[in-house]
Amino acid sequence: MTTSSEWARAVKVIDGAGQVCLACHVRPDADALGSMLAVLHALASRPGGAEVIGSFGDVPFKVPAILRFLPGAELLTAPTKYPARPEVMLSFDAASVDRLGPLSGPASAAGELIVLDHHASNTRFGTINLVDPAAAATAVLAADLIDRLAIPLTEQIALGLYAGLVTDTGSFKFSATTPEVHELAARLLATGIDPGAVSRELYDRAPFTYIHMLASALARAVLERETVGGLGLVWTTVTRADRVQAGLSLDVAESVIDEIRRTDEAEVAVVLKEDDAGVWQVSMRSKSLVDVSAIATALGGGGHARAAGFSYTGGADEAIRAVRTLLDCA
Ligand code: AMP
Ligand code: MN
Ligand code: MN
Repeated sequence: MTTSSEWARAVKVIDGAGQVCLACHVRPDADALGSMLAVLHALASRPGGAEVIGSFGDVPFKVPAILRFLPGAELLTAPTKYPARPEVMLSFDAASVDRLGPLSGPASAAGELIVLDHHASNTRFGTINLVDPAAAATAVLAADLIDRLAIPLTEQIALGLYAGLVTDTGSFKFSATTPEVHELAARLLATGIDPGAVSRELYDRAPFTYIHMLASALARAVLERETVGGLGLVWTTVTRADRVQAGLSLDVAESVIDEIRRTDEAEVAVVLKEDDAGVWQVSMRSKSLVDVSAIATALGGGGHARAAGFSYTGGADEAIRAVRTLLDCA
């Protein structure tokens, strides 16, 4: 739990900085990018405030297609142009420094590194750690920081925070959806943002070719009733060929897990997505019993008890075998 003195130190460091450099985890989701953009807009709105730089370590540098509706994406800097030794750096939604990819170098060299995160596995890699595993999203911590900096919420700020909150609570469905989450959502909506427009962007749109990619992935889904001591595993793959055929980038495949995880007969759902470099980006979800973050961590990744992931270089068969072996020991 973050102490109030740590929050006070973060405010003092940011208030005194001439330049503030922001970074979120690689292949950002709405919580990572939305929280970072919200703080970027907040700091930039201060008259005579610090210069603000924001980035994430994807090379080539491209904002995921489904997040391009977030205001401020055009203000970001490519990681190749990021300061090597930032005076003050803030990290968003990354459990460990390696999740910043190429920006882990600047993070290690920064004068002050303020870490905002909600992963239980966070390694406290900052000089100031604003880490709360009970927080539903990093957006909750980013909102807290913006409040403590006495910066009023605007629509631009609220949109990033709301996108993060919606995504990490599964549209206010997951158990982390506390009264405080709804109170924050109410404050964000009061700025005038349109929740319908946000959910349409995040969940209710895709190119027509997505349907065929999804069909291929669903057709390959396998149910293993006996795995996880009889609790069941359901898994599938999205290959590079599926996506290339459909002209789709990797981020469009993120929602496949939400289709297969509804399977009644399986406690655990896994989707292996092949990225453009041929590496498998693996998403894992559980319903209520299995801690998938422990399995993802054992395979070099991380995450939360009910949602975790890891990267795997090799065959999809090998990757799922490794997952199965760990699940059977869980
Ligand atoms: P995803 O399945 O990509 O939505 O990710 C679910 C959770 O797992 C998120 O909290 C991520 O931060 C975490 N995660 C996903 N992939 C990785 C990875 N390669 N390394 C560490 N954590 C990951
Ligand atoms: Mn994230
Ligand atoms: Mn998050």
